[in-house]
Amino acid sequence: MPHIIQVAVPTPLRRKFDYLLSDAINPEDVLPGMRVLVPFGRTKQIALVLAHAEQTDIELKKLRPIDKILDAEPILPQDIIKLLTWVADYYQHPIGEVFQTALPVHYRKKETALEPQIKQWFLTETGSQADWDELKRAVRQRSILQQLKLSPQGVTKDQLAAQQEGQWQTALKTLQQKQWIESRVKPIENEHCYLKDNIQKNAGLLLNPEQQQAVHHLLENDGQYCASLIDGITGSGKTEVYLSFIKQQLENSKQVLVLVPEIGLTPQLIERFEERFSVRIKTLHSGLNNTQRMKVWQQASSGEVRILIGTRSAVFTPMPDLGAIIIDEEHDLSFKQQDGIRYSAKDIALVRANNARIPIVLGTATPSMESLYLCQTGKMAHLILRQRAGGAESPQVHIIDVRGQYLQHGLSRTLIELIKQHLDRKNQVLLFQNRRGYAPVLLCNKCGWISHCHRCDAKLTYHYGHNRLRCHHCQHEQAIPAQCPECANTEMSCLGVGTERVEKTAKELFPETEVIRIDRDTTQRKDALQNILEKVRDGSQQILIGTQMLAKGHHFPNVTLVAILDIDQGLYSVDFRAPERLAQLIVQVSGRAGREEKKGQVLLQTSHPEDEMLNTLLNSGYAGFAEKVLKERRELLLPPYAYQAMIRAESNKIENYQSFLEYCFQALSSIKQQLLKSQNSTQKSTHNIQFLGPVPAPMEKKAGKYRGQMFDEEDKRVMLHDLVSVLINSVEANKAAQRVRWSIDIDPQDLS
Ligand SMILES: [Zn+2]
Ligand SMILES: [Zn+2]
Repeated sequence: MPHIIQVAVPTPLRRKFDYLLSDAINPEDVLPGMRVLVPFGRTKQIALVLAHAEQTDIELKKLRPIDKILDAEPILPQDIIKLLTWVADYYQHPIGEVFQTALPVHYRKKETALEPQIKQWFLTETGSQADWDELKRAVRQRSILQQLKLSPQGVTKDQLAAQQEGQWQTALKTLQQKQWIESRVKPIENEHCYLKDNIQKNAGLLLNPEQQQAVHHLLENDGQYCASLIDGITGSGKTEVYLSFIKQQLENSKQVLVLVPEIGLTPQLIERFEERFSVRIKTLHSGLNNTQRMKVWQQASSGEVRILIGTRSAVFTPMPDLGAIIIDEEHDLSFKQQDGIRYSAKDIALVRANNARIPIVLGTATPSMESLYLCQTGKMAHLILRQRAGGAESPQVHIIDVRGQYLQHGLSRTLIELIKQHLDRKNQVLLFQNRRGYAPVLLCNKCGWISHCHRCDAKLTYHYGHNRLRCHHCQHEQAIPAQCPECANTEMSCLGVGTERVEKTAKELFPETEVIRIDRDTTQRKDALQNILEKVRDGSQQILIGTQMLAKGHHFPNVTLVAILDIDQGLYSVDFRAPERLAQLIVQVSGRAGREEKKGQVLLQTSHPEDEMLNTLLNSGYAGFAEKVLKERRELLLPPYAYQAMIRAESNKIENYQSFLEYCFQALSSIKQQLLKSQNSTQKSTHNIQFLGPVPAPMEKKAGKYRGQMFDEEDKRVMLHDLVSVLINSVEANKAAQRVRWSIDIDPQDLS
């Protein structure tokens, strides 16, 4: 029987592939997690070995042999192979692409551009105490042990090869299995800092009783799978709780993985970790180049990096001594990837922790409904922090009813008066407007022409600084027309308010005050955000104007007034998650005000002051609001009380996506009927077919493509996954699928 291995090949085909090992290759040299070069169609591909296979469904004579093995050691450990296999299965994504995505770019190319890591072999405690006489007949094992004994500083594979003979690699593996020897990556120079007493550089802050209780709970449940939600208001010292818990992990010789939102990875956060611990701490995020990413990945894989702080994709990093996972700002949308494999790093982290039997901690001031639901069902511990550290008071939140008020470029009289008062007291003011540019629409005063993007169902935003019209949904931009393209009238006006317009107005109203705008346009250059934040930290009497970027993690101790200029966009949205997002935004932005000794004030401008959800938030806080939202979701059977999959399709022609989605709808209906028939009648779903759509996407035309979508919603996750996987098989064989670009989104978060 020839030897068969199963590999993942980077291709959109949703399956694993079988290959043969030629006689020239020793099967024991091929381990799961190694890369191999394989012939694939007419090309060569780098594939990843998943397993040795006992049998194959393919006719033996059709199987092709692999070309060569690319790695001397597996680059992915078993636990990550298991995790990625789960990801492919759960998100119904081609397994080859999943492995491809999880690996650093260098590994996806033929030659790894970096030096391979130098592994060394050592005798273990067991090995040096063992009775070597047992090995009288195993000459090669004995010889290896002797070589290792003579070199307590470690022996590389090359050094072994130079001295050993015959099938010494097999002997090496046998010894490793007996745990008489072990391989380690060359130890780091500065090893003393890993000694228990030297781990902590500086002592932590004194914990208040709530924080102590949280830390106590985490320590008590260490060493097993346990998910905990730290639900702590801004300023309640969540990070201090993480740090106390991490200290314990490091002292137990464990590694810790900390996941943060994309723009939550601030130098302040990293500084805080580095000030506390002397171990090696590294970050993994999209700002690194491929070589840097590869290096951090390798250092985490070898165990050299003890704390890895990273964004979404860091969840796939191998960490041999992983002892705990922490997810900061767990409510943040950036943990969900919105293209390619639409995975949730948060859900993957929960699975990884469960597989590894280790604790996982989620922290936020505004928990997601999904996490609160897990707390309700007892699957997650709910640890509440309601005390602000240092006794700072929570800010007061007020509504400004702008109906009938004159707004000066988005600012009401009441607000302008308050800004003046706060500036007079030498404090900072933060104005939040979630729209870049000067104005979202340019309008002809005479005929009503408005600036549309010809590639999207969207308006072109007027950018004052660049004097251009820009689409925020595709790359299109154009000059400001000197006259109306329709009627040649030269009088045009700006509708709506963006950050640039607020900036200009603030400068005119308060000419003595420094006005700082923080949005994607002012922070494009490297370090720009960092420089601005430093200016803000050292300044007083400033007006800060910004978008989303300002809402997260940054600490502005001198800000005493925060105003959200327009909350109405979030109040009436088709997305059922819009109220949750708005509440999170309001609470997060409010959290920027009045930290430490200065009491803060928060103002919300709206023309819907009577809105029920808004009032619940203001009167009962986020907890009361969340309770109400969850109740509503339960009644309407929406997530987290139901499970959704979204099928998206786009094409140059409307008919193409329509007929494709129509096909999906029909296919799903008949698959579901068959599945129900085959089930025992008692197991039947309580609420039946819930297919929504096909409908046009909220923005049907985007970057020249027409887009549509449909949902499948089920009250049983198994049913959802069964349906979707049968659907995919049927879709792949269908012609309609070839005329569209389509994708499946399991647990969709962004419905646009
Ligand atoms: Zn006109
Ligand atoms: Zn556009």
